[in-house]
Amino acid sequence: MSTPKTRDDWQALANTLSLRHQAFIDGRYVDAASGKTFDCLSPIDGRVLAKVAECGAEDINRAVAAARRAFNAGKWSDAAPRQRKKVILKFAQLLDQHADELALLESLDMGKPVGDALNVDVAASVRCMAWTGEAIDKVYGEVAATGHDELGLVTREPLGVVGAIVPWNFPLLMATWKLAPALAMGNSVVLKPSEKSPLSALRVAELAIEAGIPPGVFNVVPGFGKEAGEPLALHMDVDGLVFTGSTAVGKHLLTCAGRSNMKRAYMECGGKSPNLVFADAPSLDRAAKAAASGIFYNQGEVCTAASRLFVQRGIKDEFVAKVAEYGRRMQPRHPLDPGAPMGAMVDEGQTQRVLDYIAKGRADGGRVVIGGERLQTVEGGCYIAPTIFDGVEHDHTIAREEIFGPVLSVIAFDTEEDALRMANDSDYGLAAGVFTSDLSRAHRVARKLRAGSVWVNYWDGGDMTAPFGGYKQSGNGRDKSLHAFEKYTEVKATWINLDP
Ligand code: NAD
Repeated sequence: MSTPKTRDDWQALANTLSLRHQAFIDGRYVDAASGKTFDCLSPIDGRVLAKVAECGAEDINRAVAAARRAFNAGKWSDAAPRQRKKVILKFAQLLDQHADELALLESLDMGKPVGDALNVDVAASVRCMAWTGEAIDKVYGEVAATGHDELGLVTREPLGVVGAIVPWNFPLLMATWKLAPALAMGNSVVLKPSEKSPLSALRVAELAIEAGIPPGVFNVVPGFGKEAGEPLALHMDVDGLVFTGSTAVGKHLLTCAGRSNMKRAYMECGGKSPNLVFADAPSLDRAAKAAASGIFYNQGEVCTAASRLFVQRGIKDEFVAKVAEYGRRMQPRHPLDPGAPMGAMVDEGQTQRVLDYIAKGRADGGRVVIGGERLQTVEGGCYIAPTIFDGVEHDHTIAREEIFGPVLSVIAFDTEEDALRMANDSDYGLAAGVFTSDLSRAHRVARKLRAGSVWVNYWDGGDMTAPFGGYKQSGNGRDKSLHAFEKYTEVKATWINLDP
């Protein structure tokens, strides 16, 4: 079937979907041991999409036991890299073949525009899986520099069982960033998707089996953080814990690792990314477009959202007018409308949270340039207008805390030092941008920005070839690129005495 072209086409496809709603443990769909389910709601219109298995500690135990058995059996963990490569590449191909369905699941489940889900989330997941598959048999160990009487080998071995806990804003992509390198290195995985967006992970589980990943190597346990995530984080037989989500939960999970078996723990957490626009930016128009899409893309529910816009005072009013112009064009539409620039917020709770921040921004003296309100785009749904606050001070709440919604704070600056001081005065350090025509300034500022990714004269550049992750309370460890393998392997030194 060809990719749906209109909202009606997508709706027609949605009507044919049969949603996977059980946990996936040891290669089979199963109910939660308690028999409990939770309502999986669509933020598009508030409708119940499915009643999903609500996993708890007993299900986590079952999944971890299955993962351990599969790991010890060695069918996957001991397979030659080129064998795992073949399977992972097949997995990538299957994701691609099911791209329409997976995109639709993402859109229905968390409200993002289906066009973005298809062209960004699923496409990037396919690329991540394929790139990682291609890389597996190009990762070498080392031979230590020794004398002739001994041989020192440095090798990487899989951790064993990896617990992965992921958020709802890019459900499939965030899961793939963990899953691909974990599987590639020979680990078994127990994945807990967000309770707000479990559907794509549940569907992908059976595609993994179809690709040739042995039963038990990849398990999916839907459920809530406290009831399903925490037993996974505290489990004594989980060797590695990888997380993407909020800083508060990330900090808590580090303590879980410490309170249990000191499992390797890597946290990809929140952000409050600064975007610095200097008066000598090569094109104010392009910079304004990037500033608008940097904050409004995915309803602002992006860890790297360009939520703090620092503009040099001389061009501030002209520039804000341009950003507002682009922002006005990004009004939310029905998420199944393939051209929608914005869709629905993930749920009612997140909608209220963002509206509370908007109220706080007003109370602190920020001036609303556009937006600032809830919209009734689809009855029963969760929609917020793209919102810009001008006249924000960098110590206002809306400029310090991660809102995770379509709310931009504009802050004026006079000098480079001023801009850098304010940009770096944050608990977070995930990403940052700088727009300037001055080559020396671009390098100088990029070097001084305390962030894991810095973009010069555009926003959100990059692909699988470079690592992604945060400084400060935006987390530790890196996803993507060969660096990701470090999180999923132990390094072993083997010494051999060559004395005759
Ligand atoms: P969240 O921290 O509330 O939840 C993330 C996951 O953790 C969910 O699966 C949730 O069920 C689970 N969880 C919650 N409490 C738990 C507990 N006590 N024990 C174990 N698991 C628990 O985050 P969210 O609202 O799903 O996602 C938004 C956050 O994710 C934002 O802060 C955003 O910046 C961040 N994020 C970061 C990146 C990155 O790469 N750095 C990427 C995407 C999103």
